[in-house]
Amino acid sequence: MAEVDIQSLQHQKLKAIYPYICSSPFYEKKLPSNIRNSDFDPALRLSNIPFTTKDDLRFSSPLERTPLNLAEIAAFFSSSGTTGKPSSYVWSKHDQEIYCEISSRILRNIQVNASDVVLLPMRMGMSFSWYGILSEMQQLGAAVIPLGTAATEEIIKGLVDYPVTILKTSPVVASRVIRAIIKDSPNLLNKLKLRQIHLAGYYSSNAHRKRLEKRWGVDCYDMYGLSELGLVSGDCPAKNGQHYCADYALVEVIRPTDFCQASPGETGVAVYTTLWKKASPLLRYWSDDFIYIDESPCSCGMQLPRLFHKGRLVDSIVVGQKRVFASDVEQILFQNDAIADEYRIELFGSRSNCHIKVQAEVEYPIQTAGMEEKLYDLFEVPVVLDQIPLDSLVREKLKPNRISDFRTS
Ligand SMILES: [Zn+2]
Repeated sequence: MAEVDIQSLQHQKLKAIYPYICSSPFYEKKLPSNIRNSDFDPALRLSNIPFTTKDDLRFSSPLERTPLNLAEIAAFFSSSGTTGKPSSYVWSKHDQEIYCEISSRILRNIQVNASDVVLLPMRMGMSFSWYGILSEMQQLGAAVIPLGTAATEEIIKGLVDYPVTILKTSPVVASRVIRAIIKDSPNLLNKLKLRQIHLAGYYSSNAHRKRLEKRWGVDCYDMYGLSELGLVSGDCPAKNGQHYCADYALVEVIRPTDFCQASPGETGVAVYTTLWKKASPLLRYWSDDFIYIDESPCSCGMQLPRLFHKGRLVDSIVVGQKRVFASDVEQILFQNDAIADEYRIELFGSRSNCHIKVQAEVEYPIQTAGMEEKLYDLFEVPVVLDQIPLDSLVREKLKPNRISDFRTS
């Protein structure tokens, strides 16, 4: 689909869906009447519509945010709450159909099929993720092993006990599991049926993906979604950006400095507007996730634009005038095989005069001068790379916060 076709489809869908979105009690209250009236063209005057914030969702009830009645609601879910109070939302049978359509085309593009067996070491409960994965795999006829929250040894046991072809997990867990396998039973890898790892739940740099692919000996594909919307995008065989569901979600990239549209290819905050009769519709939802978009054609032939996920707000830091992401630091560190998978970025001094320490676990001591130079080019302030022994850093989180900012204002 050409860029102009996508835009015109999005505008058409937005105009059709807009009265439905405005009819929820939440948007009836939030939007000024001149923005809700029938003369207002949401497609032409999108920037006049106020953003929906995370706090808007946190401090409103799921039933306020839906135009549907209880008889039309199929489930209640809640966000993970990793960056604050969780927000709840409702889900309908129609949402399920759209979700399965979006996920099926991404998964079929990377050859997932009915013969696959998917190991799911993921927390069940109120989060939508596990339910979405069960649904999408059922749609394709693949089998799911709902392992639930599991320690590294239990995940390895699951890989051994079942004919698992796909492991669906976060980059951090995939790193920890392969490290344990290489350390304790390196021959095990040859006995597994595993052919793909689907990474989700957290950003990963391209260097991290390549590192995982080399260690596991299988293809790794990134998937990106958010609880409030569902699956947004996924990698294709080209692994050069994730095709996103431009026909079901209008994605704006907004500069956090002046709240204007970012230039093509520029990184900004992803702002989502849903384009189907979603049970909990979203108008210009400010996600706090940083992305950039590439509209150019992809070698895989898929006719949808590509999105590059840089990280969440908490995965970035502003140094001087520049926003730097942990994924950029990771991209530099993980080029060197001696640097292990755990690292921390610490900022000291003041905002106008700061210095940075990057602590990185290493397999063995290395010369750091070249890497410090690359980190200096990235941050544009002095950086010390501190090599520390393996297992020195705390590993309590599946979505680790890599950045500690000790600067005084
Ligand atoms: Zn592609």
